[in-house]
Amino acid sequence: MTVQHPETTAHPMSQAPALSIVAPCLNEAAGLDAFLARMIAAAETTGLSYEIVLVDDGSTDQTWARMVQARASNPHLRALRLSRNFGHQRALSAGLSRARGARVLLIDADLQDPPEALGPMLALMDAHHADVVYGRRLERAGESWFKKASARLFYRVLRWLSSTDIPADTGDFRLLSGRIVAHLNAMPEQQRYLRGMIAWLGGTQVPYDYRRESRGTGQTGYPLRRMFSFAADAITGFSMAPLRLCLALAGLSIGLALGLLVYVLASVVAGSAVRGWASLAMIFLFFQSVQLLCIGLVGEYLGRLFMEQKRRPLFIVADELGGDPSPGD
Ligand code: UDP
Ligand code: MG
Repeated sequence: MTVQHPETTAHPMSQAPALSIVAPCLNEAAGLDAFLARMIAAAETTGLSYEIVLVDDGSTDQTWARMVQARASNPHLRALRLSRNFGHQRALSAGLSRARGARVLLIDADLQDPPEALGPMLALMDAHHADVVYGRRLERAGESWFKKASARLFYRVLRWLSSTDIPADTGDFRLLSGRIVAHLNAMPEQQRYLRGMIAWLGGTQVPYDYRRESRGTGQTGYPLRRMFSFAADAITGFSMAPLRLCLALAGLSIGLALGLLVYVLASVVAGSAVRGWASLAMIFLFFQSVQLLCIGLVGEYLGRLFMEQKRRPLFIVADELGGDPSPGD
């Protein structure tokens, strides 16, 4: 096997490529070769110069070793290993910070997003002079009804709550112009909800409809707990509506309290006051829970403000193969 040393010899990556492909990987060792084979074939058919930026997001299996091995025989590959698991959105952000291409494709490494869509997505981008071509899932194969139903509900609630027009049923599978990538890299927020951030950037964004496949190998990195925190990031990052909900609830409870006051006064006048404590206890509990809910909502935003103001780096890179280290990381 010939090991190439792109840092010292002329190679396809000495100039900025026309296309970067960013793929985050958490424990994808079993499927990485299959992904690379299909991705490289798809990239080659475009005839463009390209690089593939693989991000190992703190995998505990052989993912990094597989990346190092794959890169040894292919100078188009670059690999980045984060110091621990930072999560899908930050792994994507890490890849984006390294991508040098004039266009960037974000794609999952588990083959749920078809690499062969690259060609049609490039064509769509050209045809519409688009800044973004986002994959829209027509179908989601091999996912539980719970995941499908909760995803459907979530995207609709988010659209309803947020003033940013975040398209429904999309993931992070998308083709971005270099301009969009530069803006994303300059956005400092810690709670990263990339699809919302991309929608917020505006410009011409066109959908590409595709069928989302079931996972080739491995397991989802989004168990229920993570789905909830992802949803909370999306909603609190893109909407003030939950805070306003406090005001609405307060208005409602004041209305109820006034109504009760009238009732109590009337019963005193009629001489039929003092009966069971159940109604009293219920009223007490109701107001108590409204208050707790409001405090909780305020706390949620306050906590996020607290985390944001720390301005910590979004991720820590432990190892990097290929490419010039970018300044400022
Ligand atoms: N992933 C990651 N870090 C994580 C979770 C996931 O880099 O903390 C990667 C994962 O390897 C995959 C992509 O992000 O390539 C999408 O994740 P996953 O398939 O687990 O999500 P799902 O498709 O189930 O929504
Ligand atoms: Mg997946």
